Amino acid sequence: MSSCLFCEIVKGNLNADLIYEDDRIVAFKDINPQAPFHALVIPKDHIPTLNELDVEHAELIGRMLIVAKDLAVDAGYGQRGYRTIFNCNSEAGQAVYHIHLHVLAGRILGWPPG
Ligand code: AMP
Ligand code: ZN
Repeated sequence: MSSCLFCEIVKGNLNADLIYEDDRIVAFKDINPQAPFHALVIPKDHIPTLNELDVEHAELIGRMLIVAKDLAVDAGYGQRGYRTIFNCNSEAGQAVYHIHLHVLAGRILGWPPG
């Protein structure tokens, strides 16, 4: 068993409420939702933090953002609004060290974030 929770979800060793999958990306519902709609979009490749990204990841990150948009729009939040967030390292609250794009919608989201 890998020590990375999200790699285990990608491999199918850990159950998740999957809502999207393609050759490079998986999306699933967050287990502890912070809004009526809260999904995580992740790459299948293990990338610990945003700090490891370089230009070779540009297409992957673009595709992840488009998946996030499609999920929010398909769930009916395109006009009301939604938020996409990558947390990087401890002061931003990153708890799982496999990059993930949060997609939050369904309530008024405060700004600035806490
Ligand atoms: P972050 O704090 O940005 O690293 O976010 C990690 C997110 O992963 C949190 O919102 C958790 O609720 C979520 N999470 C942790 N374990 C699981 C899991 N097994 N399935 C779905 N979401 C999870
Ligand atoms: Zn991983």
